[in-house]
Amino acid sequence: MKAADFDYERPRSLAHALSALAEPDVESRPLAGGQSLVPLMALRLSRPGLLVDLNRIPGLDGIRVDGTTLHIGAMTRQRDVELSPVVQAHAPLLSRAAAHIGHVTIRNRGTIGGSLAHADSAAEIPAAAVALGAEVVLTSERGERVLPVTEFLVGHYTTAIEPGELLTEVRIDVGNPDQHWAFVEFTQRSGDFALAGAAVRLILDGNRVTQAVIVPLAAGGVPARVLAAEQLLEGEILTPQRIEQAAAAMDHRELTAVMTRRALLEAGR
Ligand SMILES: Cc1cc2nc3c(=O)[nH]c(=O)nc-3n(C[C@H](O)[C@H](O)[C@H](O)COP(=O)(O)OP(=O)(O)OC[C@H]3O[C@@H](n4cnc5c(N)ncnc54)[C@H](O)[C@@H]3O)c2cc1C
Repeated sequence: MKAADFDYERPRSLAHALSALAEPDVESRPLAGGQSLVPLMALRLSRPGLLVDLNRIPGLDGIRVDGTTLHIGAMTRQRDVELSPVVQAHAPLLSRAAAHIGHVTIRNRGTIGGSLAHADSAAEIPAAAVALGAEVVLTSERGERVLPVTEFLVGHYTTAIEPGELLTEVRIDVGNPDQHWAFVEFTQRSGDFALAGAAVRLILDGNRVTQAVIVPLAAGGVPARVLAAEQLLEGEILTPQRIEQAAAAMDHRELTAVMTRRALLEAGR
């Protein structure tokens, strides 16, 4: 099947893109890497009247640290997030999560902003962003607003983005670089979407857990921390028994518990 007819604009400035997205009476959609949107259009599951191509807009991509904040432009390719020495140094969990997405050809085109805006509950970047306490910057002709990613992600394929808004940047506080973290997932074949997985961050004082963050992947709905499992670890020595209890508290499928156990063992090393 081919996509339904649509108009196409390729702006060369953010202002032009925002004005195109603000056009009334037409359902417009930003086009980033096209790795999710184009297949959906080909299947006619998405029928935008206007595609606003973000690929020629300068300044929408790039990775930098400013003080204790890591800034990643929405159009930064997933492959660049994976390989960036800056991301590897300051938010290694995100870099590892990106490495699990599809195949290299997908990651070369797919963007961090596109993955968040698409909000697939099995996608790696949203789960990693929740585990890292990330924020997203939404820009429109009305101005800019900054939302915690937990408020941005509303449901499977659903976000808090409003008409005329673009996701322009992802921000992560990297004041306390992770020493203990893991991102693990299970796929049936290499490159497939994950059937289950877990993102884990631990702050340890010796072998005692002072803070735990556990986010299951592909658990349905939006990725979210599992406080019941985290609380079983906090203040406790990280023993195999404690890990077992936390994994059992995941309140999801057995595979999620197995992935959580693996991630906690890896993070605790
Ligand atoms: C074979 C295959 C395997 C894949 N495997 C995986 C996988 O294992 N894990 C995974 O996570 N993903 C996987 N993907 C999806 C891939 O990661 C996509 O890159 C991602 O879902 C969307 O990013 P994109 O930049 O391609 O966005 P697009 O496809 O261009 O856009 C996706 C949606 O987001 C909107 N959008 C894009 N950018 C913005 C923005 N800046 N502001 C507001 N809205 C925006 C678009 O309008 C559209 O609705 C796979 C894709 C394919 C084709």
